Amino acid sequence: MFDYIISEEAKKIKDEVRAFVRDEISPSLIKQMDKDEIQYPTEYLKKLGEHNLIAMRTPKEYGGRGLSWEGEVCALEEVGVLGSSLPCLYSLPIIAGDAFNFFGNHEQKMKYLKPMCEGKKYVAEALTEPRGGSDFFGATCTAEKDGDYYILNGEKRFVVGGEGADFFLVYARTNSDPKADPHTALSLLIVDRTEGVSTEYLFGLMGTRGGGASRIKFTDVKVPKENVILGEGAGGKIFYQMMVPERLTTAAGGLGSARTCLHISAKYSTKRKAFGQTINRFQGVSFKIADCITLLDAARSIVLNTAKTIDAGAPPALQRRLVSESKKFSTKACWKVINSAMRVMGGIGYTTVYPLERILRDSRIGEIWTGTTEIMNLIIQHEYYKELLSEKWFDRDVEQDAIDSEAEEEKHYG
Ligand SMILES: Cc1cc2nc3c(=O)[nH]c(=O)nc-3n(C[C@H](O)[C@H](O)[C@H](O)COP(=O)(O)OP(=O)(O)OC[C@H]3O[C@@H](n4cnc5c(N)ncnc54)[C@H](O)[C@@H]3O)c2cc1C
Repeated sequence: MFDYIISEEAKKIKDEVRAFVRDEISPSLIKQMDKDEIQYPTEYLKKLGEHNLIAMRTPKEYGGRGLSWEGEVCALEEVGVLGSSLPCLYSLPIIAGDAFNFFGNHEQKMKYLKPMCEGKKYVAEALTEPRGGSDFFGATCTAEKDGDYYILNGEKRFVVGGEGADFFLVYARTNSDPKADPHTALSLLIVDRTEGVSTEYLFGLMGTRGGGASRIKFTDVKVPKENVILGEGAGGKIFYQMMVPERLTTAAGGLGSARTCLHISAKYSTKRKAFGQTINRFQGVSFKIADCITLLDAARSIVLNTAKTIDAGAPPALQRRLVSESKKFSTKACWKVINSAMRVMGGIGYTTVYPLERILRDSRIGEIWTGTTEIMNLIIQHEYYKELLSEKWFDRDVEQDAIDSEAEEEKHYG
């Protein structure tokens, strides 16, 4: 149904990325990554660059394609077929790209954004610290001004792509005054992999393996002052924008994973027999498939609508609410679809004979990274209340339709 409502441009890019995923990614890459035999898939990123598929919303002059969000979410669903590591690495330049596209200067774009889009420089985004990821403004990494440099110290963890990145986008505290407004106390630094930067690959992840998820330590790292994006204290402002690509990429990528599990299990149900007939003949099975199809279409709808609403120029607060709703809904829906698919497969779905068990392990990250579901709810209700209480009320005053609406003395508010 979605092919009828997406643009020709989005259709074209969807087909192009689908072909890339089908023809260019070998099963052995995915298997080796899942076994932690590959810790960072450099070749994959190079290939993405060669096909001009990196951070495609970036303007052409900086190596992108000047694409819309509509096209990008269609592309992301296709990449999502690969699980979570490769889609996370696909998403990172989209996320980092927005920091440059919205707030970077020409020099920063030429030095970092362009080679990143060409697949020649690899990026990672470092927000989360051992102390916590949800409380972004509580970041404790420090960057102290020292002449023409900032001296960066501290630790980040769970940073996807950290193992192979050439440079990192790092949020750090540039105002050491504990009473400083947290919204202006942080800055976003571009940090090259240089002296004082050490990364350690994280073994033991449930899924999302082989994507270079790392712990990163910064010890007296000299960061040139021209590597601060939008100037000192702008970290908060940038973070509010970065929520958009972080959450929309996660919401869209999950669709591909869920779709692929649904396809595998539905096909299986037409071949597998029990009680003398194929199991799709049992409503207990086929109705599960029906629920999955419905959930997946609903998730795709919210993602696509959000993308189109942003493309149409929605204000930032609405964008933040919609991407948070999309991420919450899509990641939950996809998790349910993948679990249902596994149930349809019976015992064999729980083995490594089929990829469902890996995709299930992989997809669990959707509800965690780029902000947990609880943090999505925090944003959704916050933006909604703000809008509700500030807006002029255009609707009919339905409260007056109650029979005893005039009983003002009964309307206690505590
Ligand atoms: C595989 C993987 C890849 C990742 N990639 C990256 C990356 O590339 N870059 C990066 O910076 N980070 C990354 N992360 C980190 C991820 O974003 C954080 O794990 C996540 O934001 C949660 O932070 P936390 O783990 O510190 O949990 P905490 O912040 O300690 O939260 C713990 C629990 O408390 C809940 N909670 C916290 N505050 C509230 C609140 N106010 N209201 C209600 N509930 C609340 C949370 O929802 C959660 O359930 C990655 C994580 C993993 C596992």
